Amino acid sequence: MLDFSEEHKVAQQAIRAWATSRLAPRVPALESGNELPYPLMRELGATFGMIDLVKAQFAKMRDGGGGKGKARGSGAESPLMAILMMELSRVCPGFALAMGASLGLCGGAILARGTPDQKERFALPVMTMERIGAWALTEPGAGSDAFGSMKTRARRVDGGYRLSGSKTFITNAPHADVFVVYARMPEEGDVRAFIVERSMDGVATGPAFKKMGMHSSPTGEIFLDDVRVPADQLLGGDDGRASRAAAKSSLTGERFGMTPMALGIVDRCLEECTRYARERMQWGKPIATFQLVQEKIARMYVVRSIIHALLMRQLEADRAGVPLPMEEASASKLYCARMTTEVAMEAVQLKGGAGYMQEGIVEMLARDAKLLQIGGGTDEIQILRIARELLSEG
Ligand SMILES: Cc1cc2nc3c(=O)[nH]c(=O)nc-3n(C[C@H](O)[C@H](O)[C@H](O)COP(=O)(O)OP(=O)(O)OC[C@H]3O[C@@H](n4cnc5c(N)ncnc54)[C@H](O)[C@@H]3O)c2cc1C
Repeated sequence: MLDFSEEHKVAQQAIRAWATSRLAPRVPALESGNELPYPLMRELGATFGMIDLVKAQFAKMRDGGGGKGKARGSGAESPLMAILMMELSRVCPGFALAMGASLGLCGGAILARGTPDQKERFALPVMTMERIGAWALTEPGAGSDAFGSMKTRARRVDGGYRLSGSKTFITNAPHADVFVVYARMPEEGDVRAFIVERSMDGVATGPAFKKMGMHSSPTGEIFLDDVRVPADQLLGGDDGRASRAAAKSSLTGERFGMTPMALGIVDRCLEECTRYARERMQWGKPIATFQLVQEKIARMYVVRSIIHALLMRQLEADRAGVPLPMEEASASKLYCARMTTEVAMEAVQLKGGAGYMQEGIVEMLARDAKLLQIGGGTDEIQILRIARELLSEG
């Protein structure tokens, strides 16, 4: 796959038009926290028939056809989802993150690993955006070492489980209705995922954190105080399958899911800088005539081309049903995250004082891009993962 198909390009144009006319004017309100992203997410879903499409796919699944709930990691593997994340990230990466965490991480995890009943009861309303989802792995004392240092505990009780602990830095936590929560089961020595609902006794969330970037996506804590979770809300059911593997597949999805976000940010930076370089006059001529400015633009183009190629490879692998290895997910995420942050900072530099002002989009993109180097595993963790895979024996 070299590029999106003509059909997908038409969809891309339609989403770009929506993002320009509907999302862009709302960005100041979303970024200031005066407006939440969820009503606009639902409007987007309704405008493009996503809700009807999800319902139709569920109907097919019930009839025994249509992929039987095929796992979709972050959801960004499919061309349309990738286009959506890319186009939203061109305008507001925080909005894309909130949507990706609900549909891709929470909804995707339940679709990938849930029982048929869990898919109906929890994935369907999340995928139709009736309910908002969050995916909760990170804890105050367990970030990079999320599994090894996990303190949240689940113990078996009659008819279900009791969960205690807390999670932090969770996208959508302040407002989500449904949470996929990872907890250690000491008796079994393993980590499992549970579907927790806000309405359950003992569930509380903190206010949204104030962050460096991604202001349009609320991030917060979840507190679980001896929460009783019914047996049928153990993700995947009690068939003894470890969910550490399930969480890891979501992490791979999250890593690949960053590629279209990175492409959207880099693409927008390149577009803004090309236009500005042609228009901005200094020393009596457009700054585009200066070779140091040209170098920045050429380097942005190189990064854009490579991220585009990485995305096409991911989409092709998904289409062919060939899973790409974890080290490739890590390598891709590492490259995308670092280079997108560099490109966005260079875009600020190219625009000078105008780049540093909040009125221009590159200031927001530069702050938002930095999250790509932290969320879904930091750069350092990606490097360790790649080295471990390459150097392990056998
Ligand atoms: C905006 C935002 C949204 C997020 N959304 C979610 C979400 O929806 N769900 C979720 O579960 N989590 C989420 N996270 C959490 C994110 O995944 C973690 O922040 C990330 O994994 C890093 O963990 P940490 O912050 O605890 O950093 P730490 O693990 O404390 O790391 C601190 C520093 O030490 C480095 N480090 C750690 N271990 C090593 C090592 N072995 N070798 C070298 N360096 C090392 C790290 O690279 C980093 O530079 C989100 C985070 C942010 C900022």
